[in-house]
Amino acid sequence: MKVLVPVKRVVDSNIKPLVKSDNSGVETDGLKMSMNPFDETAVEEAVRLKEQNIVSEIVAVSIGEAKCQDTLRTAMAMGAYRSILITSDELLEPLSIAKILQKIVEKEQPNLVLMGKQASDDDTNATGQILAGLLGWSQGTFVSKLELTSDKARVHREIDEGVQILDLTLPAVITTDLRLNEPRFASLPNIMKARKKPIETIALSDMDIKTTTRLEMLSVKEASTSREGIILNSVEELVEKLQNEAKVI
Ligand code: AMP
Repeated sequence: MKVLVPVKRVVDSNIKPLVKSDNSGVETDGLKMSMNPFDETAVEEAVRLKEQNIVSEIVAVSIGEAKCQDTLRTAMAMGAYRSILITSDELLEPLSIAKILQKIVEKEQPNLVLMGKQASDDDTNATGQILAGLLGWSQGTFVSKLELTSDKARVHREIDEGVQILDLTLPAVITTDLRLNEPRFASLPNIMKARKKPIETIALSDMDIKTTTRLEMLSVKEASTSREGIILNSVEELVEKLQNEAKVI
């Protein structure tokens, strides 16, 4: 079984990003960049499935500037066998990313696309769903447990009411929740080995894909951090407030 794992290069999740002074976006210059945490979870899951001999080949793919190579090297140090880099300096929307991934799926013919449920920079949470729609494939989103056989995937999905269990016919697109696993740190020997693994580079301009911009970013603002708090004297008072003020119970 072959698995394709899309991985996005984002500002490292341990860094608090700063909003640009003109509110046009988030400052990324000079900041540490890493693999989107949800994608690390997807790579880890693919590697575990390979270790169980359920998966035979893992291909990582990243779309963006040439530096996405670093993200692909991390995926290969964790266990992906080879990578594809689609180079573009454009700001791409989820529909465009999904169209690019669709082309790569058509070329690579994986049985499964295992990807993050959302990118930690724009929190769009859309690409996996759009990709499944474009391909006409089954989709399992926000997956916190995955059991895979040669023609079926059983997924546990985190939903508001609890956990939903679904059986999906392969091929499928599965998007990962952080609860799925604890990603490994790549060992130094594996980091060295990953340097020799192949990265195929394709320019987006050579792919015959329309990347029309449909969304316009108007402004980015700092989230408000101040929250009003009060100290209550008893559990009864808390229950009363939850019932009558917040109306949540
Ligand atoms: P989003 O819909 O933007 O929140 O992203 C969901 C998932 O799509 C991410 O976790 C990645 O797996 C994938 N993805 C989004 N953008 C890219 C990109 N530029 N390169 C590779 N994968 C991406």
